Amino acid sequence: MSHTCKALVVTCMDFRFQTAIRKFLKAQGLIDSYDLFSVAGTQKTFLNPETQATALKQVELSAKLHGMTDVYLIAHWDCGAYGGNATLGGGESEKNKYIQDLASAEAIIKKHFPNLKVRKYLARFGSNNFWDKFVFFCINVIGKVFSPSVDNQNIKSKVYFELV
Ligand SMILES: [Zn+2]
Repeated sequence: MSHTCKALVVTCMDFRFQTAIRKFLKAQGLIDSYDLFSVAGTQKTFLNPETQATALKQVELSAKLHGMTDVYLIAHWDCGAYGGNATLGGGESEKNKYIQDLASAEAIIKKHFPNLKVRKYLARFGSNNFWDKFVFFCINVIGKVFSPSVDNQNIKSKVYFELV
């Protein structure tokens, strides 16, 4: 294996997204070719004055030691570092907050490392595929009618990635 990799992936520590993130990165052609910086709140680490230097150091080292060219910032829905849905509301304003902070984190990275390409994603529960949505909807409705107490883990564990 060569000692260079394609990307630095910055993701939250949240266990609910780890399997999905690995699958997503594999689909991006990044398996065994990314450095990983896993930290609560992902993009927030670049914005907080207390943690910014540490975050930028990871970028610097990944570029210097492994020659990576792309930084993947993966934010996720209901992020505890923001207080989650309970604090951000779970709607458009929550989505906008993540997108805004991802853009600010990108600007900070680009300021220090203008040659790096930054890709920003928001991981969310569910699916953006029409048929998946339809099936989820049906399962949900049927589940509510026949067994209202059952939590459908299958739906909850599904995650999709939106390029933002
Ligand atoms: Zn999080």
